[in-house]
Amino acid sequence: MVRWVQPHRCLREPFRAVTSPAMKRPILIHPDPRLKKTAQDVTDLSDELRTLAADMLETMYAAPGIGLAAPQIGIGTRLITLDCDKEEGTTGRPLTMFNPQVVAQSDTLSTYEEGCLSIPEVYADVERPAEVTVRWIDLNGAAQEETFDGLWATCVQHEIDHLDGKLFIDYLKPLKRQMITRKMQKLKRERARDKV
Ligand SMILES: [Zn+2]
Repeated sequence: MVRWVQPHRCLREPFRAVTSPAMKRPILIHPDPRLKKTAQDVTDLSDELRTLAADMLETMYAAPGIGLAAPQIGIGTRLITLDCDKEEGTTGRPLTMFNPQVVAQSDTLSTYEEGCLSIPEVYADVERPAEVTVRWIDLNGAAQEETFDGLWATCVQHEIDHLDGKLFIDYLKPLKRQMITRKMQKLKRERARDKV
């Protein structure tokens, strides 16, 4: 894993916050045991976690993707980033959520064709609640709550699933899931071979 090394602090301004440019992190590909683990709650919002969140947004935009969960870069922390409004040349709406949880959901369901940065080039229809109310802690440590619908609702549920070790292919029939897993194993073998 690539780590940002904190530069030397200026001695005359010892309390000035040190900021770092965000950097991309490698995304784990399914199957990987780290993608199946339950992530841990954030109890102390440190600068290190804020840097991690900035890295995740950069990694997500570069992929490109609309959502990323910390376990996808091998970190077992309840942290997700998402932006379903980003379009070429716009600032979008980057959201960073620590300890996100669904506190209410609609009975109405909706189906979206989902994909995942950890399962490249695989897409499948998944049915989920059409509307969800999510509570989370933001980058300033403040509690937030918002109701999402449309693609945002699907995306936030998909990312929260990652924090519980669940992938969108877990909603598919076992045979289809096994087929996709074999395809990913082959892809990983090919990528490993290309690196040699
Ligand atoms: Zn995903």
